[in-house]
Amino acid sequence: MSQPTPHLKLYNTETRIHEEVKPAFGDTLLMYTCGPTVYNFAHIGNFRTYVFEDLLRRSVQFFHMKIKQVMNLTDIDDKTIKGALQQGITLSEYTTPYINAFFEDLGSLGIQKAEEYPAATDYIQDMITIIQRLMDKGVAYAGSDGSIYFRIESFPSYGRLSHLPLCTLKAGASNRVSADEYDKDQISDFVLWKAYDSQRDGAIFWDSPFGKGRPGWHIECSAMAMKILGESIDIHVGGVDNMFPHHENEIAQCEAFSDRTFVRHWLHAEHLLVDHKKMSKSLGNFYTVRDLLQKGYTGRQIRYMLLQTHYRTQLNFTLEGLDGAGTSVQRILDFAERLQGLQGPEHLNHALPIMQKCIEGFTAALADDLNISVALSCLFDMIREINSLCDQGKVGQKEGQKLLEKLHHLDTVLGILSLEEEEEIPAPLLEALEKRVQARLDKNWKLADEYRDWILNQGYKIEDSPKGARLKKIRRL
Ligand SMILES: [Zn+2]
Repeated sequence: MSQPTPHLKLYNTETRIHEEVKPAFGDTLLMYTCGPTVYNFAHIGNFRTYVFEDLLRRSVQFFHMKIKQVMNLTDIDDKTIKGALQQGITLSEYTTPYINAFFEDLGSLGIQKAEEYPAATDYIQDMITIIQRLMDKGVAYAGSDGSIYFRIESFPSYGRLSHLPLCTLKAGASNRVSADEYDKDQISDFVLWKAYDSQRDGAIFWDSPFGKGRPGWHIECSAMAMKILGESIDIHVGGVDNMFPHHENEIAQCEAFSDRTFVRHWLHAEHLLVDHKKMSKSLGNFYTVRDLLQKGYTGRQIRYMLLQTHYRTQLNFTLEGLDGAGTSVQRILDFAERLQGLQGPEHLNHALPIMQKCIEGFTAALADDLNISVALSCLFDMIREINSLCDQGKVGQKEGQKLLEKLHHLDTVLGILSLEEEEEIPAPLLEALEKRVQARLDKNWKLADEYRDWILNQGYKIEDSPKGARLKKIRRL
């Protein structure tokens, strides 16, 4: 008898309680996830959050719920505008390559596509509508610089998400901040609409009832979330660095606008460190996904590395850790291959109860605030035990197929087996490999060695496989 499926419980940053998660309306869970600011390639710290959101998304489906996920693309903010102006190109010309790169990176890491990826530039009118209503209600006002600000004093529960002490709030209530990003010690009225500044904005601006300008960053997410998912949504997720001020401001402006609870469950993914230090270009420990692929690591390896630590724990990223992730991934792949290739006669279904126990442990661990490390240890215990039965010839072909099916079911959460690695080998290298194979057939060993050396010089090695010789990129550290 299998156990009934437990309910998915997640830690809510706002209430600080583990709460059962299910859709408030209908059968679809509405989830908003803060997406990338497309002024650069996203780094692995960003991807830690996106991989976690993917785990959450997959888990929601594993627990038999439907999901509608929205991830925005921040294409208007201080950084994208600055980048476009510096290069003398339009905002869209500047952001498009980074948007394309972002989708490529999602693919490399096997991250499932969200249902919608709205870009801020397509929702300006919705932002203006919200700001107008906030003005009408008296919670937004024009500052002496012509920009429109949200009056945090008018929203008594301001600070409830990040649990800010009241005294900090009082101190900030008389100030204004117009930057998109700022720290807790700068708590103050935040900008909704930034008045045009020719020095800063060049030819990038939009018209509005409040004058020429552009939206502040915080109102962008609020407008897209409410427009696409509705005024009250089930889950809102982001990195812990977005909790203040970004999410705090989102709550204030959405709830002041709609008089409804904006979000029922808030989830935040912790930081990623590299070699125990904050990742930064100046320390030389800054990696994008493409940097790591370039070094010869695989998407599966990077995905596993980012996935294996519980989302509310800081993740220490190291290249050695990435090697360890490679070993774990290989164990899963080898196990699947072994089950696939089982030939033996049928036995007494020795292995299926082990798999069943694993599924129950795995499911219970996920239900407990996505405790991925426990889920993975259930998986590897099962692999070890069933491998040992296979060594003894106790698993037959039919049972192997059933086990494989169940393994793939677990993989709907992990996304390791289903992640197709596409390693594109440049054409001249494939040609050289073919010529080497021919030279060997012709017993022209000197020529064959010359091709081998040339291939090595290009950073690839030749591996013999049952399907013939193939090329693999040499990992460079
Ligand atoms: Zn956001």
